[in-house]
Amino acid sequence: MKAQLNPERTIAELKDLRSLTGDANGAQRVAFTPTWLKARKWLRQQVADLPLEIHDDAAGNTWFTLRGESEKALLIGGHIDSVPNGGWLDGCLNVLAGVEILRRINGQYHGKPPVTVRLVDWADEEGARFGKSLFGSSACSGNLDMNEARGLVDKQGIRLPDALAEVGIDFERVKASGKELKNAAAYIELHIEQGPVLLDLDLPLGAVLGTFGVERHAITFHGQAAHSGSTPMNRRKDAFLAAAKMAQEIYHIAERSKGSDGDGGVCTIGSCITKPGIVTSVVEECRITLDQRHLDATKLATMLAEAKAASERFAKEGNVQVHWERLWQIAPRPFHNDLINLCDESIRETCGKSHRLPSGPLHDAAEVAAAGIPTVMMFVQSLHGISHNKIEDTKEEHLELCVTAFDKLAEKVMGWIQKNS
Ligand SMILES: [Zn+2]
Repeated sequence: MKAQLNPERTIAELKDLRSLTGDANGAQRVAFTPTWLKARKWLRQQVADLPLEIHDDAAGNTWFTLRGESEKALLIGGHIDSVPNGGWLDGCLNVLAGVEILRRINGQYHGKPPVTVRLVDWADEEGARFGKSLFGSSACSGNLDMNEARGLVDKQGIRLPDALAEVGIDFERVKASGKELKNAAAYIELHIEQGPVLLDLDLPLGAVLGTFGVERHAITFHGQAAHSGSTPMNRRKDAFLAAAKMAQEIYHIAERSKGSDGDGGVCTIGSCITKPGIVTSVVEECRITLDQRHLDATKLATMLAEAKAASERFAKEGNVQVHWERLWQIAPRPFHNDLINLCDESIRETCGKSHRLPSGPLHDAAEVAAAGIPTVMMFVQSLHGISHNKIEDTKEEHLELCVTAFDKLAEKVMGWIQKNS
């Protein structure tokens, strides 16, 4: 068998998958649906001539294993599921690049690489149907909240455990998938950036430092409703005024969170509800939501503390009360330094210049990293800086570059595993 990597074949396969499982509105491979099952069946056909062991684990993740001299395994991850009306690259690019790498490794090492290489197609990365992303990988990492997941219901009123039973998965056993990580020595994942950073830098590829930690809160200011005509400006307890000052402040907080490398966090006030919410009354109650993200846990904590202090200052200035409520939080998941360096090196060898960037969105890689396995991701530039949309796109020359660079990374990480075990 020829050992030659063929990135053009990956692009052709992405197009085949698109015509098989997409329509005029985009990709339709929502997890646990017939179209998703069709995509997975197709995927198995693509690797039928390789000497792989293939099985689904207890959480419905599919594992394609090429046994090596050592049991220590390099894991390559992706997800073939998509959001409804999704793009043609999100998730499946990672999987199909992994397929091409398996072909190259199998050819080069005559079916027996020095370490075991495993491609995993995670189940329901997107969480499009039940509103909970990273299902398969969080079951595998052990982080899945079983009580929360047990209660999830889709728009048709179908419970997650029942939907899983439909495709042969026993919900109560999904965490048994954790045994798949037993010999995992490293995990790598390729993904489209889904943002504009590489596009703005005019660079095709980047090494990902980790996924952002997130602090999500509701902040409610309580003032006093009063007639908009009869209440002098200096007598008001205006809940909206205090909340509105936060809008400017979060830009200063984000600016101050920048490190020496220029990488900072982001803050978003995503919603604002006023009561009584009529044109003739001073606002009595104003509830805003604040989403803060940073790659550095200490800096994330500082951003949160600064927002709290500012809200109290603005409340005092306006003679109103403020109340905070945590909606959700997740710790930053920094990737492995050695692997980040190898990723950088692979990119530079492929296209001359690399860039290191954090990931705003969460990925399956964050779950694997949380399970303590050395992890890194590679990003390829997204055109329009957009995804989860049928206009999601990446230049074909960049797709070829990413398969080449990702393959180099796989080879380097195999060497790293041998050296470190
Ligand atoms: Zn994805």
